Amino acid sequence: DWSMGNEKELQKVFNQADAYDEKELGQKLKEFGIKAPDSGNELTDPYPFNLMFPTNIGPSGKETGFLRPETAQGIFVNFKYCYEQSGGVPIGIAQIGKAYRNEIAPRGGLIRLREFSQAEIEYFVHPEKKDFPKFHRAKVADLALMLHPHQQQLAGEGTIKMTLGEAVKKGIIANETLGYMIGRTAMFMMDIGIRGEHLRFRQHLPSEMAHYACDCWDAEVEGAGGWTETVGIADRSCYDLTQHAKHANVDLQVSETLDKPIEVTAFTLSKKVKGPIGKAHGKAGKAIMDHLDALGDAEKEALNGKGGKVTVDGTDYDLTPQMSMFERKTTKTSVVKFTPSVIEPSFGVDRLISGVFEHAYYVREGGDAEDGSMTRGVLALTPLVAP
Ligand code: AMP
Repeated sequence: DWSMGNEKELQKVFNQADAYDEKELGQKLKEFGIKAPDSGNELTDPYPFNLMFPTNIGPSGKETGFLRPETAQGIFVNFKYCYEQSGGVPIGIAQIGKAYRNEIAPRGGLIRLREFSQAEIEYFVHPEKKDFPKFHRAKVADLALMLHPHQQQLAGEGTIKMTLGEAVKKGIIANETLGYMIGRTAMFMMDIGIRGEHLRFRQHLPSEMAHYACDCWDAEVEGAGGWTETVGIADRSCYDLTQHAKHANVDLQVSETLDKPIEVTAFTLSKKVKGPIGKAHGKAGKAIMDHLDALGDAEKEALNGKGGKVTVDGTDYDLTPQMSMFERKTTKTSVVKFTPSVIEPSFGVDRLISGVFEHAYYVREGGDAEDGSMTRGVLALTPLVAP
């Protein structure tokens, strides 16, 4: 009941509903005595649902494959090729295509489909250089938008109108590149006919954010059915490329030539361990050495000259102090390697079209309609999309 004077408390719960885990959601359903809307039946406890669409592939048809739930991964797989062609970051790669999700409740016309069109841009940047000169130059920073930062959502408060420049300066939006993408997305949406007063940007709550993202904003469009997420704009950090590099065993790092050489200290496995490890562990020696070399500095420090136990491909190996020696080497270099971060605007084409149609439609008084009625439906599309 929203009329008991505790609207703010309820608004807080409502704002967080998407971010609750299984247990929290179950507790809230019980706390508010929520029943099935039409029948009044009890609800079961929540359980996880796989949104990926399984299918059978391969010559026997017995292998399980999954339809892509977003177009983005195709871009990451092609990153190395595109990078070699362009020769540096930042680079942006865009793609449009079908995506598939095993939605629990597909409905609402074009709003929730099991097969839909996505248009995605992956914009690869240096992880420490997320400033974006065009953010100020092209005046995107001056654009004032309705923002719903996570602090306001958690406090049960509404949106705030703020320029993107101020939001980045105050740290509400993580960086200029993300701010620029939010601004250009808003400009594009308004150009094709989405009305500014029915467009807001909602930040994901820290607990709601996908495991790969470090800041994420949804462009939401208001229509007859309430607010609908239409574009997702996320800073996915270096998660995707790191995972592809790891599982495909390919180097997806990029290199940058510096103006002045810098000193770098590497903590690497000593060549002296090769003999003792080979003698003690035979064929597994190479895998053990690769494993040791790939450890983080803190783990290397813990083993250095002391020995210990390591687990490689599920088997435990004992290492003597002679088998776990590392060396620090300082060298001068003018080329540094790093895995780029990626900022991703992800457009739902069907939802954009749905929003454009809804915002373009109105009813006009006028007695000359062919069916004799006193009103007419008008679809006032902007010239940009009318053809
Ligand atoms: P997401 O990866 O969930 O952020 O999705 C990116 C965009 O795809 C969303 O902003 C939506 O516009 C669109 N989208 C996601 N799921 C669906 C769906 N079931 N039907 C239509 N569009 C969708």
